[in-house]
Amino acid sequence: MSYAGPGFEPPQPRSPLRRPLVVALAVMVLGGGGWFVWGAVADDGGGDGQSGADSLSSGSYEPLSPVEPPDFSVPSEPATSLAGKVVVIDPGHNPGNFKHTAEIARKVNIGTNSKECDTTGTATNSGYTEAEFTLDVARRLRTVLERQGATVKFTQDGDRSDYAFGPCVDERARIGNAAHADAVVSIHADGSAQGNRGFHVILPGAVHQGAADTRPIVAPSRLLGERVKAGFARETGSAPSNYIGDGTGLDTRTDLGGLNLSTVPKVFIECGNMRDSKDAALLTSGTWRQEAAQGISEGIVSFLRGS
Ligand code: ZN
Repeated sequence: MSYAGPGFEPPQPRSPLRRPLVVALAVMVLGGGGWFVWGAVADDGGGDGQSGADSLSSGSYEPLSPVEPPDFSVPSEPATSLAGKVVVIDPGHNPGNFKHTAEIARKVNIGTNSKECDTTGTATNSGYTEAEFTLDVARRLRTVLERQGATVKFTQDGDRSDYAFGPCVDERARIGNAAHADAVVSIHADGSAQGNRGFHVILPGAVHQGAADTRPIVAPSRLLGERVKAGFARETGSAPSNYIGDGTGLDTRTDLGGLNLSTVPKVFIECGNMRDSKDAALLTSGTWRQEAAQGISEGIVSFLRGS
């Protein structure tokens, strides 16, 4: 890439939209030095640097300072990128749990007591399982978060070759801990009576017993939960649960191993009641699940940015 130097003829903008774009991007990176080169690349709409240099060498703007060699280490993410942030998504249950009832019934230590490794989860009356639902929403959520630069890890992705079930709730917690996750969200849908509708977010209560010590994560988890609740309600238009949480959409629990054993901010979301026909109509809609994933992602992003 070369620079033609001052005194060249000004170019004709390719379109009325190009000039504001160049100015905006150039200003954005002024503090990092080398704005000239970066502006040239960005000018080409994110394409290869060569064509951007061509357009610049015909003389778009005069540089503010001597041009430095191209610095291709300049991050390409937008200023709002989630690069460096780790999000663990925990798709509740596992489609294989139904075939491994003995294995998932074995007890694991959750700090306060022993509890089943995992459960089958619920299903709609027409047979759409919670495990299918949670994996689908989780995968959509992963796509949205990765697009924004986050590192996303799953506790299970329906691909556990050695185990067609689980993982157990204690292992689910440990996966988030080992990843040093900035946020963990466990995706679920509830199985309650017809007429019970809406979503709620489950927050860890303070537990300090055995291997469990949630005291450091109670406050940040509440913040995460409030953000997820807001994003979910906004994107899906769903109301908070009419049967849990007194209309707040929030429920605090101390009996869930996945929360008790977590050392990083973590919440569960029960996206709706699979046993209610109206909620089931939503939960079985791909369009609605995309809205759900979008809403959860907005809550996570808001939490991670501290905004
Ligand atoms: Zn569940």
